[in-house]
Amino acid sequence: MSVQNQHQIGHEPYDAPNSWWQVLSRYQPRWLWWWWWAFHWTYYQFFSFGDAYLIDGSNARPVMLTMRTQMTHDTIRLVFSFPSRQSLGITCGQHIWCHLGDHKRAYTPTTHADGQFELVVKRVPDGIVSGYLHQMAIGHTLLISGPAGRCSYRGGGVFTLSVYKAPEMTMLTSHVLCVCAGSGITPIYAVLKHVACVDVDMKVKVLYVNKTVDDVILRTELDEMCENHQNVECHYTLTQPPPEWTGLVGRPSIDMIAGIANTARNEVVLVCGSVSFNRCIAESCLKLGYERRMLVLF
Ligand SMILES: Cc1cc2nc3c(=O)[nH]c(=O)nc-3n(C[C@H](O)[C@H](O)[C@H](O)COP(=O)(O)OP(=O)(O)OC[C@H]3O[C@@H](n4cnc5c(N)ncnc54)[C@H](O)[C@@H]3O)c2cc1C
Repeated sequence: MSVQNQHQIGHEPYDAPNSWWQVLSRYQPRWLWWWWWAFHWTYYQFFSFGDAYLIDGSNARPVMLTMRTQMTHDTIRLVFSFPSRQSLGITCGQHIWCHLGDHKRAYTPTTHADGQFELVVKRVPDGIVSGYLHQMAIGHTLLISGPAGRCSYRGGGVFTLSVYKAPEMTMLTSHVLCVCAGSGITPIYAVLKHVACVDVDMKVKVLYVNKTVDDVILRTELDEMCENHQNVECHYTLTQPPPEWTGLVGRPSIDMIAGIANTARNEVVLVCGSVSFNRCIAESCLKLGYERRMLVLF
């Protein structure tokens, strides 16, 4: 019996849909499904935003060198670019790893915005990675990974810290003392910029040691910051000062640190230099009465 006849004599079997999928399949014309599929495929291919962060603790990602500026006789500023819809994925004060073959070294972006970040790199004599970065050509790519680092400044005076072997802790402070040497200024500078622009109620003092005047990195930027923001103060000390130098002289001694330190009880001390420098400054701070948990050694 034909379907038409069945209908005519009222025997058409009723196959009730038992899921929403069956209802849709029955009543939507097939071409609509093709359009639906084609729309989503195109959207994900061309307009999907993908990962929000470039580095997220997994694989190393390539970034392209787009600009290079000479800052001092041995220090350059490098600007790297990546897809602008992503942000780098580090918090203020954290660093990234730069990979070169089997070697990887820590560098702290001094600024980062969506689509680009900036590194300030000091050339170390016979240094493998710093030497490579100094010679890198514009348009070439570098592999980076991260984020890494025990200290993050979250804004509003809040630091999250993993000091020594203790688990991560959160600290609220109104005063920060930074003691750094050479390229150790980079993580300090990232925190300073945030404090100067956003957290105007916080007080930050920096004691920055270098060999000569020509070795001081980011001096123009630091001086401008101190001039424009009253809550930021920078003190330079040189181990080989020129005769006309009127600033501090020598390595940071206990007296020098005491003369600059704030007297606030909740003061956090950020220290960034070589391992021996960090150890020496930490010892001085402990002698001055700082609690160990207030010291952050980068
Ligand atoms: C958390 C963190 C953040 C850092 N951020 C920056 C940054 O933003 N900018 C920057 O320029 N550097 C930064 N550094 C230092 C950087 O990671 C490298 O250690 C440095 O660039 C040297 O690497 P290299 O491969 O060129 O030298 P290597 O090949 O590792 O070393 C070559 C020789 O130089 C000596 N040496 C290594 N490092 C130094 C040094 N700093 N001073 C003097 N001698 C050294 C070594 O003992 C060795 O004899 C940071 C380090 C840390 C731990």
